[in-house]
Amino acid sequence: MLTNLQTRDVETLIHPYTNLASFREAGPLVLENGKGVWVYDTDGKAYIEGMAGLWCTSLGYSNEELVETAREQMAKLPFTHIFGGKSHDPAIELAEKLKEIAPMPVSKVLFGASGSDANDTQVKLMWYYNNAIGRPQKKKIIARIKGYHGVTVASASLTGLPANHTDFDLPIKNILHTSCPHYYRFGKDGETEEEFATRCADELEELILREGPETVAAFIAEPVGGAGGVTTPPAGYYEKIQKVLDKYDVLFIADEVITGFGRLGTMFGSEAMGMRPDTMSCAKAITSAYFPVSAVMIPEKIYAAMVDESRKIGTFGHGNTYAGHPVGMALGVKTIEIYQRDNIIGHVQSLLPGFWKHLDTLRQHPLVGEVRGKGLVAGIELVADKATKRAFDAKKTVGAKATSLCQEEGLIVRNLADTVAVCPPLIIKQDEVDEMFAKLTRALDRLEDHVR
Ligand code: PLP
Repeated sequence: MLTNLQTRDVETLIHPYTNLASFREAGPLVLENGKGVWVYDTDGKAYIEGMAGLWCTSLGYSNEELVETAREQMAKLPFTHIFGGKSHDPAIELAEKLKEIAPMPVSKVLFGASGSDANDTQVKLMWYYNNAIGRPQKKKIIARIKGYHGVTVASASLTGLPANHTDFDLPIKNILHTSCPHYYRFGKDGETEEEFATRCADELEELILREGPETVAAFIAEPVGGAGGVTTPPAGYYEKIQKVLDKYDVLFIADEVITGFGRLGTMFGSEAMGMRPDTMSCAKAITSAYFPVSAVMIPEKIYAAMVDESRKIGTFGHGNTYAGHPVGMALGVKTIEIYQRDNIIGHVQSLLPGFWKHLDTLRQHPLVGEVRGKGLVAGIELVADKATKRAFDAKKTVGAKATSLCQEEGLIVRNLADTVAVCPPLIIKQDEVDEMFAKLTRALDRLEDHVR
């Protein structure tokens, strides 16, 4: 029986990534407030937000400094844009800060409002850059099967998941997909992880050669895959991939939308995974999700080409209203200040032994086929048969059942098919980590009764 608020929701809202048919009966979980890593529903029931919202509320739910920063900026200058040469102090400061902490040389920062628009911008910039430098045929972008890069037309095309393409008439032209570096599901019998990594790089090279290297502009990858099922590439994978990219003059775009700002125990995921990207997309934890902000980090050679194009065309014809929004910019500056001042990365590193000890214990659970991830993000894949890795029949929606049992236990997680993702706020404390895994284990034990 739905409450009044739930009924009003069902009659008015479209929910992203929701089965819109079954949702009409189930109704929404309506949350009202939050504190630290906890959120509370309209009945006052408490939940640990084990997904940091959507992999984003790194500083938790009631950071007073962020609230005050937003309030002050709202009162001072709630909006101004950065079109046509206008600017403001917080945008300049945040761009400077990002340049300082980026793991590679960055010339300029281009702000947006979502991870999707950052990756859309990356695609456009690759096309624009190659036109500018007289290589109009070098336009194809290679993403990976099961990669996740967003939902706008170009970024949904980059995303390598069927639900983002089917009946949306995607992917668009010039976007290709190569192998997913997930050994558990895509490694062949008898193949070592090292051999699998080599095969992934060989398959990338074969694709580039098939298409013609003169037509391939860039390769995009999340350091550790998120929404495609939390996939961690094997050791040595990026080194092998990098060699292929260098050989064929293909630029490397790191999608750091989840992994940026401490998630893997380093400021950026590229550092944790030994990647050498040319450019990067960031969003989410850039403001601890207190305001929608994204950033594209542009290297000098692309910036120089953009300047030349401006001279030729008369303007740089790209940008959206909320790019460089002063409230978002002020929040970004404050968020990064807190990460550095409070040594959030050191805190994450101190949590990792305890976090992974719980995950190692979960590996023994009869329903768990694989536990994967890195830093403070993990995926727990549920299987029908541990020995053969046989998946559950998709119609049984076992992952969704696990999520709803976790919710009953007072824990919010997210299932990506039958993989349960865990990605708590970075400020979580050890006793809260323990409580989170106690709830998760109870839910999985109860799940056994449902599926056996
Ligand atoms: N890239 C990655 C790696 C993501 O995880 C996401 C969202 O989860 C996006 C891009 C898209 O970001 P947004 O939902 O802000 O458009």
